[in-house]
Order: sequence, then C-alpha cells, then structure tokens
Amino acid sequence: MLPALFVSHGAPTLPFDHVPARDFLKGLGASLPRPKAIVCASAHWDTDAPALNTPAVNGTIHDFHGFPEDLYRIRYDAPGAPGLAGDIEALLKDSHARLDPRRGLDHGAWVPLMLMYPEADIPVIQISVQSRNSPAHHIALGRTLAPLRAEDILLLGSGGFVHNLRALDRGDMAAPEPEWSSTFGDWLHAALVERCEDDLDNYRSLAPRAAFAHPTEEHIMPLFVAYGAGGAAPTRLHRSTTYGSLRMDAYAFA
Ligand code: ZN
Repeated sequence: MLPALFVSHGAPTLPFDHVPARDFLKGLGASLPRPKAIVCASAHWDTDAPALNTPAVNGTIHDFHGFPEDLYRIRYDAPGAPGLAGDIEALLKDSHARLDPRRGLDHGAWVPLMLMYPEADIPVIQISVQSRNSPAHHIALGRTLAPLRAEDILLLGSGGFVHNLRALDRGDMAAPEPEWSSTFGDWLHAALVERCEDDLDNYRSLAPRAAFAHPTEEHIMPLFVAYGAGGAAPTRLHRSTTYGSLRMDAYAFA
C-alpha cells in the first residue's frame, strides 16, 4: 500500500534551484509504486469547506508574482479524475465538500509533482485546506481519505515544515538555519514520530516559536492531512533548509 506523503514545496523556483530538496523530490516518485491517481492537499488552495477540482485536464496555475519569466512558461497539465473526485466528495459529505470544475493545479501541487512525476501522466486531484480550522480538523480529513491508499491512490500533502516568508534570508539560498527554526522543527518532528495527537492539535500554544514559524497556518495543514491519512509512526524522508529557515522536510506516513 502506498504511504501518505508530506512534502515541503519551498520557493516556486525550486525546479531550477540546485538544492538537496530538489534532488530528493526528483528521486521520490521512482522510489514508490506507481500510483493510479494522486490526491494533493496543497497549502495554496485554502477554502472554508473542503473543495476538490474536477477538470478533465488540469490547467497550470502560476499563482505567484515577481519571479523569472521561465517559471511562467512551465506547464504541468496532468489529467484530472472527475469520477474519483465525485467519490471523494461523497466520502466528505458531512464536511459540505464541493467540486470545482474550473480550477487546475497551483504551484503547491505542480512544483513537487513535476519533479516526482515529470511525464505529467498520472491523474491529479487537488483538495483544499481550511486553515481557519484546527489541526484536528485536518487530521480527521486525512483519516477520511486514508482508505484511498488501498486503491493505489497517493495522498500527498504539500506545504512547508517551517514557513515564515518575512524571516527568509532571501539573498542566500544556502544560508544557515536560525535557531528558532530548528527548535520549532525539532518539537514538531518529535510530536509527529511519537504520535502525540493532542500536542499536534495544540501545536500553536505548545511548540516553541510556533506562531513565528507559521505566521499563517495554511502551509502546516497539509502535514496534518498526511498524518491523518497514515496509520503508523511517520518516517522522515528528507530534512534540509533553503534561504535560512524555509524548511524542506518530507515525511512518509505508512
Ligand atoms: Zn507555498
């Protein structure tokens, strides 16, 4: 059975950046059995109730500003899976889930996916996060999706392990990690591997520098979706930083 995954997608320029996280993601797809479809919970689709996209073919959304022109020419037009999205909507009927036939893939989805599966030939559905809701809400969302893993569907959370854009060392991709970032990251890692679900749900009051590590919460919520979709203690697949504090960690939840 496929694990659920959490990956940090980093800066939109990741496909062009010579950093360990890019090389890790390039090898990640081939290290797994090939999925029949991918359901991606991206930090960059944040709604009040869960939403699923249902185009026949996903368009590529360039949802960022001020980056090099080459980035806006990237396309990752993977097929959609409208039938599967409808099945998932039914699973989530108590959450008032809705379908969105127009939306394609945002960079939270296509940045890791173009590295993991460059052929863009595996159907992809995006599911939104609800960052105004709790970690427990997202863990429950992941639990509802978990049975899909037995159908060779890859559940992929894409966000950021530490994500404060104002605190980045923007001029230096290889800047050393500041202590506040590693302290927060160590706490979060321990809570994940020890499966302290109450601590995860209350991370914002319990974890050191939590509100600084995640000034807004949309980039951590995909981690909780992946956690909920797994049944065992997670395995850290990757740990690195870019631009000082932009942690690029990835986990598998078997
Ligand atoms: Zn992002």
